[in-house]
Amino acid sequence: MTTDMEPVTEFRARARTWLRDNLPPAPPDTGPPDSKEEWDRARELQRKLYDAGFAGICFPEEYGGLGLTPAHQAAFTTESYPYEMPVILNVPTLSICAATLLELGTEEQKRAHLPAVLRGDEVLVQLLSEPSGGSDLAGLTTRADRDGDRWILNGSKIWSSGAYAADYGLCLARTNWDVPKHRGLTMFLLPIGAPGVTVQRIKQVTGSTEFCQEFFDDVALGDDAVVGQVDNGWEAASRLLQHERAAIGGTSPYMSGARPHIGGEDSPILEIARRLDRLDDMRVREDIGEAHAMMVVRDQLIAHITHGITAGELPPAAGSITRLFSAENSWLQTDMAVKVAGADAVTHAPGDPVDTAEIGTDYLFRAAWSLAGGSTEMARNVISERVLGMPRESAADRDVPFKEVRRGR
Ligand SMILES: Cc1cc2nc3c(=O)[nH]c(=O)nc-3n(C[C@H](O)[C@H](O)[C@H](O)COP(=O)(O)OP(=O)(O)OC[C@H]3O[C@@H](n4cnc5c(N)ncnc54)[C@H](O)[C@@H]3O)c2cc1C
Repeated sequence: MTTDMEPVTEFRARARTWLRDNLPPAPPDTGPPDSKEEWDRARELQRKLYDAGFAGICFPEEYGGLGLTPAHQAAFTTESYPYEMPVILNVPTLSICAATLLELGTEEQKRAHLPAVLRGDEVLVQLLSEPSGGSDLAGLTTRADRDGDRWILNGSKIWSSGAYAADYGLCLARTNWDVPKHRGLTMFLLPIGAPGVTVQRIKQVTGSTEFCQEFFDDVALGDDAVVGQVDNGWEAASRLLQHERAAIGGTSPYMSGARPHIGGEDSPILEIARRLDRLDDMRVREDIGEAHAMMVVRDQLIAHITHGITAGELPPAAGSITRLFSAENSWLQTDMAVKVAGADAVTHAPGDPVDTAEIGTDYLFRAAWSLAGGSTEMARNVISERVLGMPRESAADRDVPFKEVRRGR
């Protein structure tokens, strides 16, 4: 820390006053953002934070940030809990895509996009998963072919959260079919509005439509769209995935104002039992205890892993540990909410005296917590191979030129 850096306590006090005087109270959580209006509101709030000098707390000053520490960010986030914050910009815009650009972007890319992101002018998405599968990311088949001084992109991406409201996407494509799968990929910064890009929204079982599928038909991109180096997109993807695991596991320094995705500081089970007047039930009390213990462990684990990574005692891949625990905990909390609520979890009707609607919806959505940001099985692989140093999983296609790899028809 430089000597002239504002101490965390003073920064926290200044943030507390500004938040109280400038932001409205936090609205109820209504799930993933389903309308452009929600995104416009987030952009507006982000602009407010930027103008007041509270945006991009851990981003460098030369790119519009404050150049402060994760401790400043943590203090600001805690203070911001009671207020309406542009939390939907955290993932993937700030904590994943902007963080990746900061590490791997050219100076021009960083100067063009990072201040724009911090001002709320640009929303970014990640375009990685494909209809043929997301876990084997290096096996993707969206292609970018050289045509004179341009790249021509063709293929399709899927499960892109919020792409319908985004300005740019980090898109991984195959640029070389003569080398093994990890060595022929390139990351592009793709304007979502470019000619040849079609975005379709996907309706989920919960009714939400935030997921998108994109189709690329002869989309022309210049060399200035390449992030990192041509054919070295696996490095860019690996950096991006590390940021994603950190974001989902709760250790990213680039998130602002976000409560952990379920429950906040306390387990939601206590509140559900209170609302449904079940606090006297012995079995419910045991569930509350277990759920609360998991929340305490989660918070301690996040603090421990964050410290370990920051201090260099743990590799960045250790973010997968909190990512895995967060998923397991989310499943436990969601299942327990249904157990405590009983029939109320599925029989809620508009106007019922106790609102239990979100319990059933959370249950329907819970599989997402073990898939988003790479599945929990893949997180276990990362932990075993890159944290514990165990041998790599065998793969028949690892050293074979990609054009010779047998794929489904
Ligand atoms: C809420 C949410 C948000 C998302 N947002 C985005 C986004 O913005 N952009 C984007 O590109 N994608 C996004 N995704 C997609 C996500 O990255 C993929 O769902 C994930 O990588 C898994 O890919 P898949 O669904 O194709 O499953 P598959 O890869 O088909 O895997 C199916 C099952 O097989 C298991 N499996 C596969 N390979 C192995 C292995 N080697 N060892 C052990 N088990 C294995 C997996 O764990 C999984 O359980 C999002 C997903 C969710 C749920």
